[in-house]
Amino acid sequence: MTWSPPVREELRGASPYGAPQLDVAVRLNTNENPFPPSPELAARIGQAAAAAALELNRYPDREAWSLREDLAAYLLRESAVAVDPAMVWPANGSNEVMQHVFSAFGGPGRLAMAFSPTYSMYEQYARDTLTRYRTVGRRPDFGLDAAMVVAAMIGGSPDIVVLTSPNNPTGTALTLDVVSAACAMSTGIVVVDEAYAEFRRPGTATALTLLEAHPNLVVTRTMSKAFALAGARVGYAVASPEVIDSLRLVRLPYHLSSITQAVARAALESSDELLGQVDLLRSERDDLVAWLRAAGFQAVDSDANFILMGEFADRHRAWQELLDRGVLVREVGPDGWLRVTVGTPQDNIALRAALGEVVGMDGMMVPPAEGDGSTDGGTA
Ligand SMILES: *Cc1c(COP(=O)(O)O)cnc(C)c1O
Repeated sequence: MTWSPPVREELRGASPYGAPQLDVAVRLNTNENPFPPSPELAARIGQAAAAAALELNRYPDREAWSLREDLAAYLLRESAVAVDPAMVWPANGSNEVMQHVFSAFGGPGRLAMAFSPTYSMYEQYARDTLTRYRTVGRRPDFGLDAAMVVAAMIGGSPDIVVLTSPNNPTGTALTLDVVSAACAMSTGIVVVDEAYAEFRRPGTATALTLLEAHPNLVVTRTMSKAFALAGARVGYAVASPEVIDSLRLVRLPYHLSSITQAVARAALESSDELLGQVDLLRSERDDLVAWLRAAGFQAVDSDANFILMGEFADRHRAWQELLDRGVLVREVGPDGWLRVTVGTPQDNIALRAALGEVVGMDGMMVPPAEGDGSTDGGTA
C-alpha cells in the first residue's frame, strides 16, 4: 500500500521543479555557460576551498562581508555602478535570494505579480511563502511598456512586482523607464531579476543605475549563468541597506557555507577569465537568431544566452526529434515554442544540423502569420 504523506494541500500532486538532466552530447536546456573553468583556475578555486577547510570547525561569516565587498567591486567593473557592500546580499543561488525576498515582503494576504511568459520559479516562491501570485500577459513581441505595468499594478496593488530582464524564456530586456515607473508606482518592492544581465546587447541598460533613486528596488544577479559557476550556487541581491536588512531577518543562520564563500571569492578574482567567453556567446547568439530566421523559424530577439524559437505545430515532437539527434533543448514558454541555450561553436553547429533536418519534416512548422510574424503570447 502506498502512503501519501500529509503535506500541505497546495503541495499535493505537485512535482519538483527541474529540467530533465539527461546524458546527451549537446545539452542546451538550462542556460549554463558551456565553457568549464580551465584546469589552472579550477586549481586556484580548489586551493581557496582547501584553505577554508582548515577552519571548518567554525561557522562561516554569517554576513559574508568579504564576499559582499568583492561582489560590490565586481559590479563597479562590470556595470560601472558603485554600490556599498551593505547593499549586496549573497545566498545559495539567486533562487535563495528570491526566497528571502518573498519571505520578507510576501506572505499571507500579500500579492506578487509577474509578467508571463516568465520564469516559473516565481510561482513556487509565492506558493511556499503563502503569497498570492498573479501573472499579467506581455505584448505579442514579449516586451513590456511602462503603461502596461502601471495599469497592471493599479489593478492589483502588488506587494512584490517581479520584472525579469532579460526575461526567461523570451530573452527580452526591459527599458529603464518601465522599471522606474514600477518603482514610483509601488507601495511594496520591485524586483528586477537580472540573471542574464552580462549577456545584454550593447545599449541595453541595467537597473543597477536606478538603485540610488529607488529604495524599494531590488536587483538580483547570479554567478550561475555568464559567470560559468552554476555548480557553486552563488547569487546575490543588490538593494538599499534597508531592504538588505529585511532579507537578513528571514535567512537561515549561516546560510552561505565558508566553502561557498571562498569559492565565490576565488572565482571573482578571476572574473575576467570566467567571463572571457561571454562576448563569443553573444555573437554566437546573434548569428543563431539570424540563422534561425533564414532557415524558416521564428526567433525572438535576445539579450540573454538563449533563444525562444518556433513555431512548432507540436513542440514536444520537435523536442523529441532534436533529442533523437543528440541535442537537448527546453520545452518551456508559450505552446509551440522551444527555448535553446547558446552553446559552444561546436554545439551550435550540431544544433543547426539537427534543426535543419527537423524544419523540413512534414507538418513540423506552423507557417508564420501573414505580414508581421508576430505570435500569440500564451503563458509559461
Ligand atoms: C537561472 C535563473 C536564475 C537563477 O539561478 P541561480 O542558479 O539560483 O542563481 C534566476 N532567475 C532566472 C530568470 C533564471 O533563469
